Amino acid sequence: MTAVITHQDETAVATGYHYRYDRVVEIAGRIVRARIDRQLYRSHSFALVAMINDEKSWTRVVDDLACQWWDATPTPSTHVDAAAVLGPVADELLRRAATVLAPTPTLSAHVLDAVSALLATAYRYDGEQRITPDDMSWASTHGGRLHIIEHADGSVTFTKAHREECAFITSSGTQDCDDECDVCYFADAQRRLGQ
Ligand SMILES: [Zn+2]
Repeated sequence: MTAVITHQDETAVATGYHYRYDRVVEIAGRIVRARIDRQLYRSHSFALVAMINDEKSWTRVVDDLACQWWDATPTPSTHVDAAAVLGPVADELLRRAATVLAPTPTLSAHVLDAVSALLATAYRYDGEQRITPDDMSWASTHGGRLHIIEHADGSVTFTKAHREECAFITSSGTQDCDDECDVCYFADAQRRLGQ
């Protein structure tokens, strides 16, 4: 799981002694700042992401050892384009922060009962399956996105068989599939769009 990163502001400063790049974004409703400070000495340099906490001060979310990026960056001078040099370090740190700050989806007891029944009916009452990261990345690029639909009669549908605009999905299962779902095509089209 990862959360959307919404850009808000950025600042850069460069002197003969150091250069610094700050980027402020919003992640999962929180104001988050990446700050990368490249000093003359590696031990004084730092890269970290912090968020504003409820006391209006900054709480560290993730950081990076300077040895990951310090050697690849130029010596401080007023001519350094701090945003261009340190932007990629901020990109990577903010990606990690978005993973840390992503809300954890919780499954209801009802849906967990349905997962239990899915396993039992697909395998056996003592069914067990270990799903690997490869399995998950394959599934994310084949077929539609997973939808879990809880019906009024207490049944639950787990499906990757429909495209997002299908009436069955948009109506949460109260209308039938419009018979235009071709999820092989759908996944291919998504890949072509680079989504
Ligand atoms: Zn459909």
